[in-house]
Order: sequence, then structure tokens, then C-alpha cells
Amino acid sequence: MVLKERLAALKKRIPPQTRLIAVSKTHPASSILEAYECGQRVFGENKVQELCAKEEELPKDIEWHMIGHLQSNKVKYIAPFVALIHGVDSFKLLRTIDKEGRKNKRVIPCLLQVHIAEESTKFGFSPEELREMLAAGAWRELEFVELRGLMGMGTFTEEKAQVQREFHSLKVLFDEVRMQYFADRAAFKELSMGMSDDFELAIAEGSTLVRVGSALFGARDYNL
Ligand SMILES: *Cc1c(COP(=O)(O)O)cnc(C)c1O
Repeated sequence: MVLKERLAALKKRIPPQTRLIAVSKTHPASSILEAYECGQRVFGENKVQELCAKEEELPKDIEWHMIGHLQSNKVKYIAPFVALIHGVDSFKLLRTIDKEGRKNKRVIPCLLQVHIAEESTKFGFSPEELREMLAAGAWRELEFVELRGLMGMGTFTEEKAQVQREFHSLKVLFDEVRMQYFADRAAFKELSMGMSDDFELAIAEGSTLVRVGSALFGARDYNL
């Protein structure tokens, strides 16, 4: 199948209330352009350098999402243009994003990443850390970040039931904090969960943003 067909097939499996983020990491600008020409405008990258290079080269109406782990010292490179930062996993990082947003005179949309997987290597707040950070309240003073919701990654496993449990727990947490802290902030409405192998499971559990790479662009070759 060519990319155009894969994109069309993928879109049929995604309901209108969920948005597709085409994860283009490791793929060349030409592949992104191909998807762009089929109407795709939202792309996700996980490395700052690659994201910036592609942003410079490609059409300006692309919405770029930073989906990977973000170091504080690199926020400044993406602050001028990034549409959504998915992986905010500390208050310190949130404060840095606010500072860079102020410099650029733009409010930067962010998701708080929650650790839901079994693997200890994945980044994110634990549910308890998330509750503590929100309860502390200092985030309310950050004028140049807008909290849009939560993001999580399921365990890398064939056990669908486990991944489903993890997604479900993230949705429950999302509903809890939304009610408690964001009842008057309508922008807090996004739940970013689901990748190529599990996006349908994630959608069934309430995902509003699915981050799909290999099912669209094919397998990644990290040795390129
Ligand atoms: C690479 C990546 C994806 C996409 O993974 P696929 O399995 O190729 O769909 C989604 N989310 C994050 C955070 C990623 O790094």
C-alpha cells in the first residue's frame, strides 16, 4: 500500500472526535509532504533537532507536536512554533516552557505526561505526583502555558488486557483532575494515548489524540 492508501485506511478507523497525529520521526521531509498533500496537517516528532529542521523546511501551516521527552534546555528551540508539547513531566519543565512562551509572546499548549506503563523506563508523573503538583497550585500562575490535558503510553506488550487497563486508568485520572482543577478551563479536554499497535484500544477508552507512526509511514530504520 502506498502512503495515501494507508492514511485513508487509518482515517476510517479513527472517529471524528479523535485527531490523528502523524508521527514522522526518522522519516524524511518527502514522506511528510506526501501525507501533507493528502490533507494531513498534524505531525509529531520526538527529537528537538529533527523537529526544528523539519519545521524550517516544510509548509508553515503544519501543526507540529513535540511528543518525546523534552529537556528544559531545549525548550527555547521549539517555543516559537510548537502546537502542543505532549511530554511535560515535571513542574520545572512547565515553568521553563512558561518562560520561553513569555519571551515569544505566545501561550504554549501542554499535556502532562503520566506514567501508566509497567516499564520503569518511561517518563511521566505518577498519578500521585500529578495530584500533588496540581494541588500545590503554582501552575495557575503560569500565564504562558495552557494545560490541555494528559498523555500516556501503554506498556509494550502483546497483553491487550493490560494495555486496556492502563488506558482506562489514565481516563479515570483525567476525569478526576479535570473535574477537580479544570472545571472552569474548557481547554483541558485532550487525552493523548494510543500508537500504531493500540490506538483502537485507546480510542475505545476515550483517547482524543492518537499518535500513529509506523502504521502510516512504515517501519522506522534507526540506522539511517
Ligand atoms: C514513536 C512514538 C509514537 C508512534 O509509534 P508507532 O508505534 O510507530 O505508531 C507515539 N508516541 C510516542 C511518544 C513516540 O515516541
